[in-house]
Amino acid sequence: MNSILSDRINQMEESATLAMAKKARELKAQGIDIISLSLGEPDFKTPKHIQEAAKASIDEGKYFAYPPVAGYQDLREAIAKKLKDDNQISEAKAENIVVSTGAKHSIANVFMCMINEGDEVVIFSPYWVSYAEIIKLAGGVPVLIQGNLENNFKATAAQLEEALTDKTKAIIYSSPCNPTGSVFSKEELEAIAAVVKRRENLFVIADEIYELINFTGKHASIASFPGMFERTITVNGFSKGYAMTGWRVGYICAPVFIAKACEKMQGQFTSGGTGIAQRAALAAILGDQNPSKKMEEAYLKRRDLVLGLLRDIPGVKTHVPEGAFYFFPDVTAFYGKSVEGYTVKSADDICLYLLEKANVSLVTGEAFGAPDCVRLSYAASEEDLIEALKRMKNALSQLK
Ligand code: PMP
Ligand code: GLU
Repeated sequence: MNSILSDRINQMEESATLAMAKKARELKAQGIDIISLSLGEPDFKTPKHIQEAAKASIDEGKYFAYPPVAGYQDLREAIAKKLKDDNQISEAKAENIVVSTGAKHSIANVFMCMINEGDEVVIFSPYWVSYAEIIKLAGGVPVLIQGNLENNFKATAAQLEEALTDKTKAIIYSSPCNPTGSVFSKEELEAIAAVVKRRENLFVIADEIYELINFTGKHASIASFPGMFERTITVNGFSKGYAMTGWRVGYICAPVFIAKACEKMQGQFTSGGTGIAQRAALAAILGDQNPSKKMEEAYLKRRDLVLGLLRDIPGVKTHVPEGAFYFFPDVTAFYGKSVEGYTVKSADDICLYLLEKANVSLVTGEAFGAPDCVRLSYAASEEDLIEALKRMKNALSQLK
């Protein structure tokens, strides 16, 4: 049947994060006691006032029709104001904002609008799984620049400079980063901005979806730097900071010509995001920010808990993540070790082994551009985290 399907879909990798989450769900359904630390999804409920706003908007009865393709005007204005107030992106106006069905969709719009066949996009790696596949779908070529454990997985401005060719159209990074939890400082981003500004027609896609889960207390938006607004597409959304993954609302702030292109694109693909979900997003942005702060505090507490437990497992090497809700430990110390005739050769093998032996699901680093690591999401209860790490320690200690 594959020959009936397009080359486009046959060549696409399945999302490794979603695939692992599906596998964990299936095993759970069979009655196996799986602890899933694979999906990057808050385990908190969407704050009550946001839920109430969505209910009220249904009762109002005004939001059942197709919304404007780029999003409701009041939501776009509120996002622009937030970007000015919180992110110092002083040029942001409603006309720069396009609201989409999640940040993933925002990113897809941007690449579909900007990439021609053969254009290169530099990805700061380790990177979130979907970037490379979306770039390829749009006809582009992902070019990876690699950070490693020693420099907290942060590729540098110098590496960027070296990777640029006359085909480079854009660069993309996430900060705080999925999968590493690393956060670019203002100085690191300034160095990246300086490289970008030396080149004509080079654009930055700054994925700031984990902005509200940042333990450094400092979030820098590259679009706020002098001369960078016209070069930057800031991507953000509600999934992580407001625990709203299922509502599917994300957005970009971009130069008007890019915003208009994305509006045209989604005018043909989705007709824009769900009306009720946009009313919920408006309440999230305008309402009490305390629930998000509380969630951030809880993630920090869990980060410290998991850090202690991971450091207690001989062979596991980790840095200290500064944001998001992931650990990205290196597992090379286990390569070549065996148990019951099974020899571990890769991080993929470690993930499979831990799934079968410890009933803990993680995602292999391979999917994130770092094949010697595994990703562990600590967006889970402390109880589950303690149990999962106990099981992992036990299973890994059996490898000799
Ligand atoms: N960017 C990053 C780095 C992510 O981890 C995610 C997680 N889903 C997204 C974008 C997309 O978020 P969403 O589509 O749920 O808004
Ligand atoms: N971003 C989350 C993750 O990395 C959710 C799944 C996805 O959209 O890939 O696990």
